[in-house]
Amino acid sequence: LRRPIVAGNWKLNPPTRPDAIALLRLLAANFVNHRATTTDDASAPEVVIFPPLPYLSDAVRILEGSGIQIGAQNAGIHEKGAYTGEVSPSMLLSSGCSYVLLGHSERRSLFGETNERINAAVRRCLDQPAGLKVMLCVGETLEEYEDGRMEEVIDEQIRGCLDGVDATALLRDDRVVVAYEPVWAIGTGLSATPLQAQVAHVAVRNSLSRVLVGASAEDVERVRVLYGGSVSPETAYGVGSMADVDGALVGGASLNADSFARIYDGA
Ligand code: 13P
Repeated sequence: LRRPIVAGNWKLNPPTRPDAIALLRLLAANFVNHRATTTDDASAPEVVIFPPLPYLSDAVRILEGSGIQIGAQNAGIHEKGAYTGEVSPSMLLSSGCSYVLLGHSERRSLFGETNERINAAVRRCLDQPAGLKVMLCVGETLEEYEDGRMEEVIDEQIRGCLDGVDATALLRDDRVVVAYEPVWAIGTGLSATPLQAQVAHVAVRNSLSRVLVGASAEDVERVRVLYGGSVSPETAYGVGSMADVDGALVGGASLNADSFARIYDGA
């Protein structure tokens, strides 16, 4: 049985640190007082938030004991050295991150990240001790969807991003989670339907079993596949009830502590 994950990607929000601290406090209060998010309750969904890096230490401090895990929205491909402006996976792990989001469609479309670059970051993250997990985002554009190329694009992205990764290392300790985020659903208010998500998630799993050479069917079954794209308290339950949807990666609605908590309740 796969443990669901409810994750919040804050993107480039909120604009100032006091706003971030206020949101973190609301989140902590919601989850500590009302919900069982402790890591030892294996039936409760994991909760992860991805705040901007300048708020990382505030998140670590304020969310301590809440059961909410913290992730970074991206990571560089180098370990250390003369790479001005970069952030390495070891810096993130040792600063309190449990997850790194990689391959988000905004990184791909706005910042030119290729499957090759994402692959280098995935490998660098998986070289770290087991405390650091990768949340790999994949998803097709509207044009690709309309051309009937959803499965092909998912397969190309998964193949490119996980190329050369040792399947045993990857599946050990559930080091990789996949987030299916159709580009046409991100920030549009137009979530995929439960059936569309289910079909895509099966495609993700099929692709994983082709790409992860040497992994058993049971190992591939254990990989969590989240849905992302205009998830709201209204849509979360329907999509989340599908057999191959193991939780949500929430953008806009994760900036409201109550909406995020309601999405969690529906997971
Ligand atoms: P929205 O929930 O705002 O559509 O964003 C989804 C997303 O990109 C999460 O990573």
